[in-house]
Amino acid sequence: MTTTKTADVDGTLAQVYALKANGADIVRITCNDADAAQGLAEIVPRSPVPIIADIHFNHRMALAALEAGVQALRLNPGNIRDPRKIKEVASACKAQGIPIRIGVNGGSLDKDLLEKHGSATPEAMVESALQELRYFDDVDFHDVKISVKHSHVPTMVDAYRLLSETVDHPLHLGVTEAGPLPGGLIKGVAGIGTLLLEGIGDTIRFSLTADPVEEAKTGRALLEYLGLRERAGLDLIACPSCGRAEVDVIEVASAAQARLEEEKLPIQVAVMGCVVNGPGEAREADIGIAAGREKGHLFIRGQVVRVVPEAEMVEALVDEARKLVDEGVEARLAAAEANAEEIAAAEREQLIELRGDANRAEERRAKVAEIAEG
Ligand code: SF4
Repeated sequence: MTTTKTADVDGTLAQVYALKANGADIVRITCNDADAAQGLAEIVPRSPVPIIADIHFNHRMALAALEAGVQALRLNPGNIRDPRKIKEVASACKAQGIPIRIGVNGGSLDKDLLEKHGSATPEAMVESALQELRYFDDVDFHDVKISVKHSHVPTMVDAYRLLSETVDHPLHLGVTEAGPLPGGLIKGVAGIGTLLLEGIGDTIRFSLTADPVEEAKTGRALLEYLGLRERAGLDLIACPSCGRAEVDVIEVASAAQARLEEEKLPIQVAVMGCVVNGPGEAREADIGIAAGREKGHLFIRGQVVRVVPEAEMVEALVDEARKLVDEGVEARLAAAEANAEEIAAAEREQLIELRGDANRAEERRAKVAEIAEG
């Protein structure tokens, strides 16, 4: 959702473009007064994505937004409560083939329902959505998506679970008023992620008290990590580091992330603090680097292809990542430096000798053999 004044057409459009560039497929814009509605009339035809007008309190703003050409409306049933006005908007949407999201929000629930249920419980929020649906049914309007957002994650999750058992409409997920990082991030991932993994939800909004571009990036990343959207950018994995690390993993991972994000390569990259465990543990990654003794072991799908000086680790990683995306895994494995695996294996052995085997594999094998052989 944009944070600019909608009347500021150029400023709002700049934000819409930035959101799209960072993963948003649909953008919601407030239509809170006549100036905003007029702004929408200029924004919608120039927008690269469908625009949803966010409507509260005043149903006339919904009608004005429709005239401005928006692709969808969001109505809050908690603050537009006159059935006649709700039906007027739904009828206009039906005539124009425009969908409505019923956007129930735990913080602005219909006060009659609040009194009846005592608080914004999952049952109260679902009842609010059903009440709105009945008004829509009265005018034979069914092109509806529903959200039942709450700032308390367990309540939000329960509300959506109940809603998904009750209706067949598409659902829009979100944790409302999630707040700034890191709490907002954790709440969004917990609430939205839980539901998506249960197969509940059709669209999401990742709510953060931050630049909306961060919301778009985070939402997109969540969908990618859940395997629900093709990876468009970098997925950097890194070991958490430990006493065996041969480099400052945090520093190297940050430097690699900054350089690789500039390249916008759609690959998974691993940064591992030591060569003893690194390449093996990160063998699923497309490409990675593990720190040896003042050296970096560059590997593709677990196979070491080059050994480079420590100071060149990050640049070598970026260079190889670029080539990997251009030429493919087979070609880059074929172009591996001769003896890279042997050099790496020898250095691994040296490190194990010097620092000890972190996994104590030899010791364990001996004990297992002792038990097995009685
Ligand atoms: S890869 Fe090496 S440095 Fe990183 S956590 Fe594992 S053992 Fe420690």
